[in-house]
Amino acid sequence: MFPTIFFAIIIFLYGITIGSFLNVCIYRLPKKENIVTTRSHCMSCGYQLKWYDLIPLFSWLVLGGKCRKCKARISVQYPVIEALNGFLWLTIFFVCGVSIETALYCVLASALLALSVIDFRTYEIPFGFNLIIAALGLIRVLTDLSNWTEYAIGFFAVSVPLYLIYIVTKGRGIGGGDIKLMAAAGLLLGWKRIVLALVIGCILGSVIHVIRMKVSKAEHVLAMGPYLSMGIFIAALWGEQLLDWYLGFYI
Ligand SMILES: [Zn+2]
Repeated sequence: MFPTIFFAIIIFLYGITIGSFLNVCIYRLPKKENIVTTRSHCMSCGYQLKWYDLIPLFSWLVLGGKCRKCKARISVQYPVIEALNGFLWLTIFFVCGVSIETALYCVLASALLALSVIDFRTYEIPFGFNLIIAALGLIRVLTDLSNWTEYAIGFFAVSVPLYLIYIVTKGRGIGGGDIKLMAAAGLLLGWKRIVLALVIGCILGSVIHVIRMKVSKAEHVLAMGPYLSMGIFIAALWGEQLLDWYLGFYI
């Protein structure tokens, strides 16, 4: 019991710290700003943040969501992303325990979280995130070589049909970033779970999008990245059980 709680706390602390880095990526990547060398600063007055202003979650809470110097509001997105990444990592740890899956899926979840927010705002998925997920896929194949065909087929299983839609609709039906995302994630999850991820993503996408259209009436352009990402995350953690449960109806 004690080691589990100890591990969980460590993982949560690492999770919110990486979440803090994700915020930097989310703000700077679309603007092509350097994510390493530029010091963190207040968006309003330019005040350079000190180390004690950069403690994930706690700094924002202590400062009441305001800049220490000019009292400008600091977006609630910062602590929300940090906390979310912490809880995603905790969930992965409780589902997969101490394993290679936990390591791979934590990186996956953080990449999905960052690319979802960026896609939601800009309708673009930075290529780097798909490259990271593809690298995770390669590690997965190398650590599970006897099932390599499962992953190899996964790379094409969803991406090829999506690419055909892309050609037929001349790029209006689906984004190129979504196709690369499903290829990379397919290599990591294998073909059964990436198909499941697509189904879950489409269901969540249509339900949530219809609700958003009813509630806000504002923009109706659909960014698929966030929904595909949710599908990938759910399929990664609970895909086997969901497939067993679903196929159980027919066997
Ligand atoms: Zn300021």
